[in-house]
Amino acid sequence: MTSLLLPALQSPTGPAASREAVRFGDLSLTYGRLAEASAALATRIADAGRVAVWATPTPATVLAVVAALRAGVPAVPLNPRTGERELAHILADSAPTAVMAGPDDVLPPALEKLRRVTVDARTAGTPGAVAGSGSLTPGGTEPGTAGPGSAAAAGDAAGPEAPALVVYTSGTTGPPKGAVLPRRAVAASLDALEDAWGWTGDDVLVHALPLFHVHGLILGVLGPLRRGGSVRHLGKFSPDGVARELASGGTMLFGVPTMYHRLAEVLDGSGDAAERDALARALAGARLLVSGSAALPVHDHERIAAATGRRVIERYGMTETLMNTGIRADGASRPGTVGPPLAGVRLRLVEDDGTVLDAPGAIGEIQVRGPNLFTGYLNRPDATAAALTADGYFRTGDVGTVDEDGYVTLVGRKATDLIKSGGYKIGAGEIENALLAHPGVREAAVTGEADPDLGERVVAWVVPAAPDSPPSAEELADHVAAQLAPHKRPRTVRYLDALPRNDLGKIMKRSLRA
Ligand code: ATP
Ligand code: MG
Repeated sequence: MTSLLLPALQSPTGPAASREAVRFGDLSLTYGRLAEASAALATRIADAGRVAVWATPTPATVLAVVAALRAGVPAVPLNPRTGERELAHILADSAPTAVMAGPDDVLPPALEKLRRVTVDARTAGTPGAVAGSGSLTPGGTEPGTAGPGSAAAAGDAAGPEAPALVVYTSGTTGPPKGAVLPRRAVAASLDALEDAWGWTGDDVLVHALPLFHVHGLILGVLGPLRRGGSVRHLGKFSPDGVARELASGGTMLFGVPTMYHRLAEVLDGSGDAAERDALARALAGARLLVSGSAALPVHDHERIAAATGRRVIERYGMTETLMNTGIRADGASRPGTVGPPLAGVRLRLVEDDGTVLDAPGAIGEIQVRGPNLFTGYLNRPDATAAALTADGYFRTGDVGTVDEDGYVTLVGRKATDLIKSGGYKIGAGEIENALLAHPGVREAAVTGEADPDLGERVVAWVVPAAPDSPPSAEELADHVAAQLAPHKRPRTVRYLDALPRNDLGKIMKRSLRA
């Protein structure tokens, strides 16, 4: 592991400097341009304590985060769609002294009090789709250098334990918490993925995720930049865009399950045949299709495999621990599992009373330890202490099993996905998978509800494929019981027009229960 977080930005020259680092639509930044512009920006924020980044899916966000990393100023990526209340909470908690945003961004009043550092990617970038071509607009800032003592070298000089980013959790189970991520964790997790996936500087990542979470920002942007590879961001996800970019040089696709679901719908649908074939060919030609952030339904996995011959591989991680497990590029892919622990990660299953479980097939809370872990929650020593065990493991709050080969299968979250019914521990995930395999079901979520006889009963929330003729509750319950077991039968079925989801497509079970 190099001591530099982004070695490819050190002082690129020759072909390394003209390699495309990121492209968003028609705006492209080479390594040379990104290095220069981020170094110049680093000098402008060098005295900031912590800097907020208005994280739109644009090259300005990439520039801002890279500049903060180089300056050694912890960056706090903000979701531009965050509601007023949550934004106020995040700002009060993280107390940034400046905000970095694009020239055209209209910031909410809560951010107007902060010093604004405008990041103009257009003056840094080269218009035109081909890296290094097109006319250059001279940058409006001083040329950057990264020599010893310069602002752009301060980050690496700050050492591996210095905070690189403060990333807020998705808020799926409660108000978002600020995870302080040291440089060491970012580097370790990205290097573990390099090991698992044979990730190189030749890879071109097709990206359509938001840039304010671990998945889109750390894996999707810093991952390629650490390798010296490229990112092509679609701005907004579309099956067409994915097909186009994979067919023209993209080698990897990172997505969340809702994206793979949409790809599966095109591949398996009765729409335009040419569009379907183009997408199937593009996916079949990719080196790696990766899904994460939430469980990929087995049904979608199978539909994609049937149409393309390719298996989507899953990885499992979280804000506080970055990446924990992942299917290896050269390993067996098993739908429904998230693969073995990544290099450097120790993973164990633990009973409610703290007993470590080691029998294959046992179900317990997943705990992880390794260089990938955060240093703690910002301003929350209580929550940090509660999340870590005496021997340094992080309590993920996720429940799972590990098979003889070390492959981890997630059962779900302890708080919302583990249903204790009639003396059984039932995972929501497998029932959701069973429901999704029913042709009359478009979306499904399963929760537990208090029940006088059973303790908790299984409740299915279903979005029917055809709203006018939904499958009956009886039919769905029989379908689940026949596929799984009678005690997993949903006792109640509720029909909805859509499931409540957050920006990453995660189902907000908190609001379903409420
Ligand atoms: P909060 O902690 O605020 O409630 P959150 O846990 O959703 O929100 P993140 O850190 O973004 O915030 O998400 C991590 C969680 O996402 C994991 O704990 C796990 O439950 C889920 N997850 C991540 N990858 C996968 C995957 N491949 N399959 C299933 N679940 C996954
Ligand atoms: Mg969490």
